[in-house]
Amino acid sequence: MSTAAYETHEVLNQPPALENYNLFTTDRALMDAADRNGAGWAKDRLTVYGSRLGDAETIEMGRLAHKFPPQLKLFDRFGHRRDEVEFHPAWHGIMNLIIGEGLHSAPWAEPKAGAHVARAAAYIMHAQIEPGSQCPTTMTYGCVPAIKRDAAIAAEWLPKIYSRQYDAANKPVAQKTGALIGMGMTEKQGGSDVRANTTKAMPVGAGGPGAEYIISGHKWFFSCPQIDAHLVLAQSPGGLSCFFVPRWLPDGSKNAIHIQRLKEKVGNKSNASSEVEFHNAHGWLLGEEGRGVPTIIEMGTYTRLDCALGSAGLLRGAVSQALHHVFHRRAFQRHLIDQPLMTNVVADLAVESEAATMLAMRLARAFDRADHDPQEAAFRRLCTPAVKYWVCKRAPNAVVEAMEVHGGNGYVDEGPLGMLYKEIPLNSIWEGSGNVMCLDVLRAMQKNPDGLEAYFAELNPARGSDRRLDAAIADLKTEFDDLGEIEHRARRVVEKMMVTLQGALLVRHSIPAIADAFCASRLGGDWGHAFGTLPKGIDTRAIAERARPV
Ligand SMILES: Cc1cc2nc3c(=O)[nH]c(=O)nc-3n(C[C@H](O)[C@H](O)[C@H](O)COP(=O)(O)OP(=O)(O)OC[C@H]3O[C@@H](n4cnc5c(N)ncnc54)[C@H](O)[C@@H]3O)c2cc1C
Repeated sequence: MSTAAYETHEVLNQPPALENYNLFTTDRALMDAADRNGAGWAKDRLTVYGSRLGDAETIEMGRLAHKFPPQLKLFDRFGHRRDEVEFHPAWHGIMNLIIGEGLHSAPWAEPKAGAHVARAAAYIMHAQIEPGSQCPTTMTYGCVPAIKRDAAIAAEWLPKIYSRQYDAANKPVAQKTGALIGMGMTEKQGGSDVRANTTKAMPVGAGGPGAEYIISGHKWFFSCPQIDAHLVLAQSPGGLSCFFVPRWLPDGSKNAIHIQRLKEKVGNKSNASSEVEFHNAHGWLLGEEGRGVPTIIEMGTYTRLDCALGSAGLLRGAVSQALHHVFHRRAFQRHLIDQPLMTNVVADLAVESEAATMLAMRLARAFDRADHDPQEAAFRRLCTPAVKYWVCKRAPNAVVEAMEVHGGNGYVDEGPLGMLYKEIPLNSIWEGSGNVMCLDVLRAMQKNPDGLEAYFAELNPARGSDRRLDAAIADLKTEFDDLGEIEHRARRVVEKMMVTLQGALLVRHSIPAIADAFCASRLGGDWGHAFGTLPKGIDTRAIAERARPV
């Protein structure tokens, strides 16, 4: 029988899926930022990765990994403990991709100028397709400096961490081709305030750096319990300390890390986050007893950079989808991009996205240079929490607006907006929530006055280019004249610092239309309370054309 009888209508005016495109070569702001910040040499590699990520097959893997979340397998069918997590094959496919690209360790395994920036550009792209896999990736990337504190652990583990083989097997590390590492800090009674940790660690012998301890207690959030080891904070006789806690012990038995349940999360669906108890688990002290926070906070510096990169990526993903939509969808006899009010909305979103990318990539440059440039080190210390705060704080509102650009389709979970929307609040919450980041900026200012100098030095080259920027710099300086109620004002101060820095970067490095739009709205105050309120006279079409993923 002819199928004509079943064909009720022709599907019209639905945009094609945004797929089989290159996330790198279609992102002018990212390409320029990678080049400018020292990773021009990585262009070919980033182009290949951008193409793989934009492939329809990869996009489908990302979708499936989120649609079929991991499941806890606590016991086998005979009642023996397994403490394992089962994943959809799409998760393993995505993990193969991100580990194969070295986003968990390449700057350590193959150090070179611009290595952190090259990785940052790839990280921004990966976030747009499958952000859940970035959790084990960033934790592994961040753990390396802490692991290097112990020669024996480093000798055994770093070669496996540096490997680009994704090996999901639940086996002792000696039998594996690659290893991944997580972190366990947060307990029920306190996450930001880790000094409230109650988990205990008692030395097996004399104790001290590198010695074995017995750990008992719990962690309320413990992501990726399926991976090979975690850095865990616990109270030892000398105070809060950091321990290396592997999943398997040197004698070939399983360590006593018992999963209680998996978290039922709003988003981040593909990634497994758990609650665990340590029933006399074994851990090895990293660094000194009582110095657990400084040891693990080093890891947090890298993961905070990644939160900013991740949110810049999620935002770029949402804005790309929105732009793709408005250039294809018609309403009231015109493409949406030709409706002036919609052009204002997508241009405003594109400005926000480029500003986020530029800021996060500038911070990544400081990670490349901090070791041999004190000004970059001071910039990194002050600006890591500030950039993390600001990029992660701004992105959720913009993603919601990008969703609305799609009309009803945006709210249907079959498309990519649902995943981006559910993921986007997370980077602001973990690795130090908003307030904690702003208070950390104040702490950095107090401890190291060079930080503010390094920050203002970054603004200097842009002075005199735009009167609104100059006024914002002058206004910002007044915030520091009187430090009264500085804690109360912390968000306000950090916000002003970051918006001013974004303005300075855009004035120097973006197209005039974007710099003008940013300075008029975010710095000059000629703006509303929602996106799509850029003032008249802005070349919104030029902004949309620049950001369009074609
Ligand atoms: C999906 C997911 C996965 C996670 N995975 C891990 C993991 O693998 N390992 C791990 O250790 N943790 C993990 N976490 C935990 C996360 O890092 C914490 O939730 C976070 O650090 C906040 O801690 P908390 O939940 O105890 O909130 P609290 O510390 O109670 O904070 C609550 C609120 O109070 C604010 N606040 C805190 N102190 C102050 C202050 N002095 N002044 C003003 N405001 C303040 C915070 O900014 C926050 O908004 C995960 C969380 C999530 C959601």
